[in-house]
Amino acid sequence: MDKQWQQILAAFILGLILPGLTARLGRGAADSMPQLQIQPPETSEQATVPEGTESCQIPVLRMDGEVISMELDTYVVGVVLAEMPASFAPEALKAQAVVARTYAMKRVTEGIRHPQGAVCTDPGCCQAYISPEDYRKDRGTLADVLKITAAVEATAGQVLTYHGELAEATYFSCSGGKTEDAVAVWGTDIPYLQAVDSPGEEQALPYSKTVSFTPSEFACALGRELSGHPKDWLGVVTYTEGGGVATMVVAGVSYTGVRLRQLLRLNSTAFTMSVSDGSILITTMGKGHRVGMSQYGADAMAVTGSTCQEILAHYYPGTKIDKIGAIG
Ligand SMILES: [Zn+2]
Repeated sequence: MDKQWQQILAAFILGLILPGLTARLGRGAADSMPQLQIQPPETSEQATVPEGTESCQIPVLRMDGEVISMELDTYVVGVVLAEMPASFAPEALKAQAVVARTYAMKRVTEGIRHPQGAVCTDPGCCQAYISPEDYRKDRGTLADVLKITAAVEATAGQVLTYHGELAEATYFSCSGGKTEDAVAVWGTDIPYLQAVDSPGEEQALPYSKTVSFTPSEFACALGRELSGHPKDWLGVVTYTEGGGVATMVVAGVSYTGVRLRQLLRLNSTAFTMSVSDGSILITTMGKGHRVGMSQYGADAMAVTGSTCQEILAHYYPGTKIDKIGAIG
């Protein structure tokens, strides 16, 4: 298409879509998040969703420690922007939107993790979040924001449930070929968080990674003084259903795979260790806790024709998609 026509067409499309978007984001008070409607935190009753409605305000704990009240899907747009590349296929983005909405509602209605029953914006705790305005400053374009907003709108009000209750919709970057049982990572068996195959991730950057430790670096990371040849340190390994390390004996001490991942700062618990030229080589598969939906796996499914519903049914077997308002 001729460039001039492309510009005219783009202007026309933006003219159709943008008014709705800006109306939704609002033009609130001019503080650190000027485009969002920031209101003072209110009572936890705000987290209760009136039956039959699809929209509500939720308390969001920002990184600066302030709890703000935010419209649910305004928040979900910011989570999907922060948590999944906009280049991913639309059905994967829709699955991410449902999962992000479910995860947030679970945290808020449980009211356990943070004061005032909030969900926080720390990716190491709850979910990452970035406002569309900050996203456009250095991460992406308006077209990216519109694509993700469309995915959120297409799934408005949809959450994942199990036996009528909000599911624990955990997700992560890349499985390395297979996801993990919840019980293997957190010690709690959850029927719909079981290891499943996750094919098609081979091209993802975090699919496989090898890191090298000198013997002293390795000992230091474990907080121990080790002597002898590193080959003699690597002992018996047991594995989880999802191909992760359940336990491994290192220099006479048994560690869980989860603990070794923490100590050695590994991408995942699905790792192998070997010794080469006196160094310890550790190859990890995937990235993250590997429980629930693999984001790269979801994209691989979407690219090969799977729908949002099929992606969610694959990674959370036994769950179903419900409307928020239908949950008791
Ligand atoms: Zn949190």
